[in-house]
Amino acid sequence: LTIPNWQKFTEAIGRIFTYGKKFDQGQVATYIPQLARIDPKKWAVSICTIDGQTESWGDFRDPFCMQSVSKPFTYAIAIEQLGADYVHSFVGQEPSGRLFNEICLNNVFKPHNPMINAGAIVVASLLYQKEVLSTRFEYSLREFDRFAGGGRISFNNAVFLSERETADRNYALAYYMREHKCYPEKTNIREALDLYFQLCSVSTTTNSLAVMAATLANGGICPLTKDRVVCTIAVRDTLSLMLSCGMYDYSGQHAFKVGLPAKSGVSGAMIIVIPNLMGIALYSPPLDMLGNPVRGVKFAEKLVEEFKFHQYDSL
Ligand code: GLN
Repeated sequence: LTIPNWQKFTEAIGRIFTYGKKFDQGQVATYIPQLARIDPKKWAVSICTIDGQTESWGDFRDPFCMQSVSKPFTYAIAIEQLGADYVHSFVGQEPSGRLFNEICLNNVFKPHNPMINAGAIVVASLLYQKEVLSTRFEYSLREFDRFAGGGRISFNNAVFLSERETADRNYALAYYMREHKCYPEKTNIREALDLYFQLCSVSTTTNSLAVMAATLANGGICPLTKDRVVCTIAVRDTLSLMLSCGMYDYSGQHAFKVGLPAKSGVSGAMIIVIPNLMGIALYSPPLDMLGNPVRGVKFAEKLVEEFKFHQYDSL
């Protein structure tokens, strides 16, 4: 087994979970009622190793929408299906240094990277482009399900409807990108946006999200089902971008202090991937000034302090 003394290890993680509880700063996202109403006290952590050992703490049975945590998975699916050359003819690999929903493109008029809204909307436009929207959503969700090893993946229609209603910024971004020919020809913008909102509205629990993260940690093979969901290249590309761009404008600091690929979302969901070891899913709705879950960030720092999991700790 990857972690021989499981009990000792999980006790230590449990202590970091308890340590995380101390932090009650931050604000819950309020741009849609479904997020504004969430109990800020929710706090859940789940881990899943690459050989399928799992453990969870706190509110790990409570569903939440993935929001931007869906972006690395959507991107990995796109790379798997379409290849990196094609995907990256539409989207860059550079941190934007700007807000996740800012209306800006890089100097060749492409979105900076697939982890911010502009990039993720373009990636959504590439996914299963030849199919009708219902099929595109169905196929995408089926892949999410494979990442989770058949775990609890569902869809929150209330969140989807709200996202679509309050998305002036995303519409503006989408049309600005059409002006700059950021999509494949014949792209239906409304459908690309709908698919983007639907993927943000995929609902899960930390339990299942940890398995999804562990599939990345395991090079694309789900540790529970042994199903190869995506190729190792797709995982390598995804983890590289999570490390440089996964934590909004905190990504540089996170890479420096924690040194592990991670992704956060406005719902308070967050994943951390420890390559060749395990996936971690966290859920705590209050966000800091940069939009990352306060407890998630604290947890990640403490984890690395205790276990030397920073990618350069092994030097
Ligand atoms: N639905 C949100 C948006 O598009 C997702 C962004 C996020 O989680 N950062 O604005």
